[in-house]
Amino acid sequence: MAEPVLLSLSRSEWDSMYRLAYKGELWAADQIDALWDGYKDQPVPCFLCDHQCGWPVPNTLILPEHGDPRRVLAAPLCWECGELPQMVKFNRAIHILREMFRKEGCQYHVTFNPKRRHPR
Ligand SMILES: [Zn+2]
Repeated sequence: MAEPVLLSLSRSEWDSMYRLAYKGELWAADQIDALWDGYKDQPVPCFLCDHQCGWPVPNTLILPEHGDPRRVLAAPLCWECGELPQMVKFNRAIHILREMFRKEGCQYHVTFNPKRRHPR
């Protein structure tokens, strides 16, 4: 499996950017589109299936960061994995993250807050 590419982002910045993009703010949508620009010249493997995502990276899955509730992880997904049901994507991603952190000798716990699922 290729080395996974993950971005660590500030949770509050991500939340406000996502909320504004959802409300139609184009600059916020552009910021989200530009998330993977630093990887434009290198292959980006899909976090779930390891196939190349292609360019632009078609989907991003936001996951809880290990040990820091103020941050989130952005994981790139290919078209096929991006089309999976949300719970399937989260289950697979959390399984992979648990394996990654187990190798580093730490446990990965995830807490989801249902109230935060949809932007207001
Ligand atoms: Zn994939």
